[in-house]
Amino acid sequence: MFTGAIPQHPVETTDQTFEDMDLSDPILDSLDDIGFQHPTPIQVKAIPLALEGHDVIGLAETGSGKTAAFCIPMAERLYHGRGIRGLILCPTREIALQTKAFLDVFGEGHQLRSACVIGGVKMGPQIQRLRSKPDIVVATPGRLFDHMNRGNVRLDQIEELVLDEADHMLDLGFLPQISRILETVPEDRHTMMFSATMPPAIERLAQRFMKDPLRIDILPKGAAEGISHRLYLVKPEDQVSALLSLLRQESGSTLVFIRRKIDAEWAVRRLEQEGFKVERIHSNLSQAQRVAALQGLREGDHRILVATDIAARGIDIPALAHIINYGPPENSEDYIHRAGRTARGANEGLVSTIATFLDKPRIREIERSLGEELPRCELPDIEAYVERKSTIRGRKRVHRRLL
Ligand code: AMP
Repeated sequence: MFTGAIPQHPVETTDQTFEDMDLSDPILDSLDDIGFQHPTPIQVKAIPLALEGHDVIGLAETGSGKTAAFCIPMAERLYHGRGIRGLILCPTREIALQTKAFLDVFGEGHQLRSACVIGGVKMGPQIQRLRSKPDIVVATPGRLFDHMNRGNVRLDQIEELVLDEADHMLDLGFLPQISRILETVPEDRHTMMFSATMPPAIERLAQRFMKDPLRIDILPKGAAEGISHRLYLVKPEDQVSALLSLLRQESGSTLVFIRRKIDAEWAVRRLEQEGFKVERIHSNLSQAQRVAALQGLREGDHRILVATDIAARGIDIPALAHIINYGPPENSEDYIHRAGRTARGANEGLVSTIATFLDKPRIREIERSLGEELPRCELPDIEAYVERKSTIRGRKRVHRRLL
């Protein structure tokens, strides 16, 4: 069995065992082969419910072990050779590829074959793969929708459906495609949905397309433990110097988040000029380029990856030491997702945010959501912006020079 594609990170597990879960011997053997000894909290809760056929809403993030939590029951419940019975919708190409790797391992016992249908690569080989009678399709919604419209795939026999990172898929604008796909698959099916948040649009999807779903909430309250947060408030003209200074000060693999693609490209060029080894990942790049950028980071070819938010939730890189927000994200949920790329499982991590006075409302929102102030920090030779600020609760108004 090829298990090399399964990402291996430290993850919080329980003291329960997979043997107690009514799993078949081939699945237990696969778990043994990939070294999963104890289930994670989401696996303990979701797998038995899914095996019994309950629809499940799992409130969980990347890094919780949710991929195995839905791949294992799907692999147990499906058998090879009866047409496309399983469908997994994922927000990004990277998540789809990782999910396929799990399915290949767990589906082995039932000879399950999966096809990965993602954007950014040629349609032709995917059409071949869809014609070769896979049992499960792992897809990003946009590309699957294209194949549906061209008559390349039929979804009228789906028995098992998973919506992974549903909130992220909606953020990316996939609601119309997802709704159409959900209208196409048979009503009489088993559905699992995973999401890190439950905005009203997701609640509506669940009400419309799921049957009495049971809800499992294993979201960390606030950001993950083990993360140190730092806020560098600087003048607008000092932001670049602050970034360079931070990259020189903190060694280790670093993900720099920038909101716009154009700025990400600019940052990469600027960092290269300064002699840093750096790559980028954003939605304008081909699949091969994204995979190469991630692979290069894993293998240490470059220690810095510049990313836009599209990559924020799906990137699966072991032990990222440092996240830098070059400008705070739009909202507190994105901050928590970005921060979740470090300190995964048992690791410790650092999240630094470079911001200017213009970003203060967003900083306040993030602090409210975390329930604590982001510690103010300074960089050598860069003058800190002096803040006139209120406390988080907004009671006391104080003038203070930043730390
Ligand atoms: P995920 O949330 O599915 O992206 O998984 C996060 C990481 O945890 C991946 O590296 C998985 O290989 C790993 N993982 C998932 N479940 C277990 C488990 N029961 N024991 C050990 N590692 C796990």
